[in-house]
Amino acid sequence: MSKPDLNCSFCGRPKPETQLLIAGLDAHICDRCIVQAHGIVLEESSFEDKNTFPIELKPPKAIKSFLDEYVIGQEASKRVLSVAVYNHYKRLLQEKTSADDVEIQKSNILLVGPTGTGKTLLAQTISRLLKVPLAIVDATVLTEAGYVGEDVESILSRLLQAADYEVEKAEKGIVFIDEIDKIARKSDNPSITRDVSGEGVQQALLKLLEGTVVNVPPKGGRKHPDQKFIELNTSNILFIAGGAFDGIDAHINKRLNLQVIGYKTSLEKHNFDKEDILQYITPRDVRSFGLIPEIIGRLPVITHMSSLNKSTLRIILTTPKNALIKQYIQLFAMDNIELQFTSGALDYIVEKALQFELGARGLRSLCEAILNDAMFELPNSGVNKLRVTKQYADQKLSRIKLPKLKVVS
Ligand code: ADP
Repeated sequence: MSKPDLNCSFCGRPKPETQLLIAGLDAHICDRCIVQAHGIVLEESSFEDKNTFPIELKPPKAIKSFLDEYVIGQEASKRVLSVAVYNHYKRLLQEKTSADDVEIQKSNILLVGPTGTGKTLLAQTISRLLKVPLAIVDATVLTEAGYVGEDVESILSRLLQAADYEVEKAEKGIVFIDEIDKIARKSDNPSITRDVSGEGVQQALLKLLEGTVVNVPPKGGRKHPDQKFIELNTSNILFIAGGAFDGIDAHINKRLNLQVIGYKTSLEKHNFDKEDILQYITPRDVRSFGLIPEIIGRLPVITHMSSLNKSTLRIILTTPKNALIKQYIQLFAMDNIELQFTSGALDYIVEKALQFELGARGLRSLCEAILNDAMFELPNSGVNKLRVTKQYADQKLSRIKLPKLKVVS
């Protein structure tokens, strides 16, 4: 039997006027107050959600030191990138907090340099630092809408996927567009035929880079009439485009030569570093290579990546936070096997990578080839130590056809 004086401790309603009255330690709550309280909880948690992705903005020097932990060499790029990323996210904060009249423009970035020199790694490291989602896309698969291939919007589907379909998170993410050089205009005369894979895609990319609201098919793939679209605003997305731009050195050389004609005649007289001619790259060279001026204008930060030499490769193998050798040591340790590499073995791996033009990407294929037998045989074999010497590495590699490892990009 209910006591007549029992009522909700929140709204005061007596028990007979409620559908349900739940008792606590020394209080009661009615069904209506539960619903109301639930509403407040939902509202609060969605408010918290909005603040779960505050970008932890670090000054350029801190960004650069973080990059140093993962990316070896590439000093110029790391500096330029640190500043660009800093400014980009400052721009985001400005939009949030003030109604300032000065509009800071986007600092989308163009990374020019040979394959396997760390372009993708830089984008990955920045997304790791800022804890924002990253989509890596290959420009070569993109086509204009209506052609076979992927629409440019598919880039955003990937980003949305990387953001676990949280729109707000995706809108602050990073898109890395690899092989942007492959969509350069092939001919100097754009009007002869429609260039489906080249200029058309560049045109389609323009809006995305600048900032627009795009209807994105949620699960990627091609658009379907009854698929619900998700609206995504690209104005705060940081775009980083990368490419090898094979042959651009000729354009740079030509420009530098032209500049000196008239007073001094050769590159040498101006002390240009011919080994690393990419460092002199300007938007003009990218334009003569075949990117349309509008795209170049939307990738205002341009920097170069240098080829990796022997000493850099050696450091890459052993020093970064998740260096390959550290990874293998860890893998073996999980089987209670102590893995060691002699200095001679490490030099040998680097030499092979250079000899076969495998670059940093090849270091992994080489290590895999050298250690595969051991990774197969040793677990549970009772062996608890493996010392990889130059002879051991050479013997393992001689059993496979190295040209098979050659990285084709
Ligand atoms: P790119 O995008 O320039 O073709 P990646 O960034 O994909 O090259 O590099 C491939 C792999 O080589 C990376 O995952 C990384 O292990 C290694 N690597 C390349 N460049 C560097 C570097 N500068 N520092 C450390 N590791 C590197």
